[in-house]
Amino acid sequence: MTCAFCAIAADPAPVAMVHEDADLMVFLDHMPIREGHCLIVPRAHYPYFDDLPETLAARVMALSQRLARSLKAIHGVERVAFFATGTDLPHAHIHVVPLHEKGDLTSARYMAEPPVFAGIAVQPREQLAPVADRLRQELETTA
Ligand SMILES: [Zn+2]
Repeated sequence: MTCAFCAIAADPAPVAMVHEDADLMVFLDHMPIREGHCLIVPRAHYPYFDDLPETLAARVMALSQRLARSLKAIHGVERVAFFATGTDLPHAHIHVVPLHEKGDLTSARYMAEPPVFAGIAVQPREQLAPVADRLRQELETTA
């Protein structure tokens, strides 16, 4: 069976892409906790974040910081969450989520009702595209 993120690396058409380079992809989560919820995904398949070569992990973290600044600028939030759970899909990825409220992201809440706890269900690429466009533009200002 093909890994879902390896399939996206080969053909990104199904996702709302925010950033792509030779090693990394950033696209919007199709079950966002909050608008702007992104995934940073290495193109190469490594099962878990701790499997990444250090240089690649450092690039992921640097991009996370840029994304956080962009999400703060767009959403006017004080905090942006970063997390890698390794529980849903064994291809290393980081979630980057603007926190509108302190309780937006707690492990108990995430485990209990991941897809809909902000009242947002699965969103198709077309619905996410304007959000991705705005974030891509903001991210480019930090390059
Ligand atoms: Zn994979």
